[in-house]
Amino acid sequence: MDHDGLSILDAIREPGIATQPALIEDGRVISFGELATHVECAASSLVAQGLGPGCRAALRTTCDAGTVVTILALIELGVALVPIHPRLTDAEVRVITEDARPDLQILPFIQSDNLPKSGSFPRTTTEPSTPLAILFTSGTTGRPKGAVLSRGAFAASAAASAKNLGWTPDDRWLACMPLAHVGGLSIVMRCIAARRPIVLEPRFDPDAVLRAIRCERVTLLSVVPTMLRALFDADRDGTLATLRLVLVGGAGAPPALLEEAAARRVLALTTYGLTEACSQVTCQPLRAAGTMEPGSGKALPGVYIRTLRDTGTLADPGEVGRIQVRGPMLMSGYLAGPGEPLRTSLTEDGFFDTGDLGALDEHGRLFVHARRTDLVVTGGENVYPAEVEQALEALPGVTRAVVFGVPDERWGQIVAAGLALDPPDPAHAAALVAEASARLAPHKRPRLVAAVASLPLTASGKLDRARAVRELSPRLSPVPRRP
Ligand code: ATP
Repeated sequence: MDHDGLSILDAIREPGIATQPALIEDGRVISFGELATHVECAASSLVAQGLGPGCRAALRTTCDAGTVVTILALIELGVALVPIHPRLTDAEVRVITEDARPDLQILPFIQSDNLPKSGSFPRTTTEPSTPLAILFTSGTTGRPKGAVLSRGAFAASAAASAKNLGWTPDDRWLACMPLAHVGGLSIVMRCIAARRPIVLEPRFDPDAVLRAIRCERVTLLSVVPTMLRALFDADRDGTLATLRLVLVGGAGAPPALLEEAAARRVLALTTYGLTEACSQVTCQPLRAAGTMEPGSGKALPGVYIRTLRDTGTLADPGEVGRIQVRGPMLMSGYLAGPGEPLRTSLTEDGFFDTGDLGALDEHGRLFVHARRTDLVVTGGENVYPAEVEQALEALPGVTRAVVFGVPDERWGQIVAAGLALDPPDPAHAAALVAEASARLAPHKRPRLVAAVASLPLTASGKLDRARAVRELSPRLSPVPRRP
């Protein structure tokens, strides 16, 4: 999907690629020629169901070939995709359908021998500004908001990624992230733009992912840090080291995880991105496996990142400020009420305020510290939860930690921690926190703690902070002071 060739069908029918693999699923290969036929059939069926340019279609998106075919057919028709993650509750689906008001709820294309070998439908021309998808932010900060992402934005995002990572003739990208999430959808857009194969895994199962990497000669993988941790635990024969690279984003990657990647000679490139920008806006550049580089990388080509003080002036190198982004991959806006124009939420000079806090160093590398709403301010001092969480996660037996602020009369807020421990013994959790506290400045030390067997994750595998805070708050008990 280039800027100048906006037909998906034209792209996948490019001369010379008809017999090359496009989608690989469970050992079955769909060539670009077959993919084009499937997309035509799906498009003609969608037209028969009444869909056409300007419509919106809701689709339960699993990570499989039928879903990819359907998504490509919608794009071809100029119909905006409203993806519904299969794990969402009825109430969550209701928010999406109330806000996005899809014209139709459609089913994924199913490959079958009985289907016609081609389909016809009126060809339309779509503009770069045509909405490609309406993605709802995962709602960790309140009611999910529908971000309208255009074809041009996804094309710009794919082009920026290609400039940073390049493509080799052997590249194959494994998608095991939900296609309802920008992390998964952007893999499809990048691979179609480059006419490269996508290896599809219906869900994230570490052993199945490692098997697919081996059997299908996968070279590229995108994961959130929790997924990389699970893959390391399952990888006993160095399968991950055969990849060209792994993109690690969606949340801050703990330094210990990146150290382990270097020791395993896995090239893990950290990246920072968000739904509102069609996925990544910064990424580390290519480097040798086995080496380390701090931060979440630099702005991708065509992207501007700045950090601002609360007063609105630019933060100095190394100084923490609000992260703002400008670039052609930004959303067209958030959905507003029915019939109302999109809410663009941009600054006068075209920057999107991400809601995150971070610092740029003198080389332009971004260090993401926290979401503004997660920041804990205690006695006037800022505490970034990720820093304390990393200290707690280094403790023996702690698989995951969450740190948050609890209102306090004297200090404004005090630091509280929830530890995922096996078994979840409160006294042991308190003793562990007391131990870690010796290595933390006094204002960063958790004063309250709760132990749980596991912490809740969002559909995309990230820590569900809001739910964790809700569930843990009633169970907090004081951490004993060290003598
Ligand atoms: P919501 O915005 O509704 O809370 P969400 O956080 O899951 O949901 P996404 O668009 O999926 O929304 O994720 C974008 C956010 O993920 C960023 O704004 C940032 O807070 C976090 N994030 C992404 N990459 C990184 C990174 N490399 N380091 C730290 N945080 C990151």
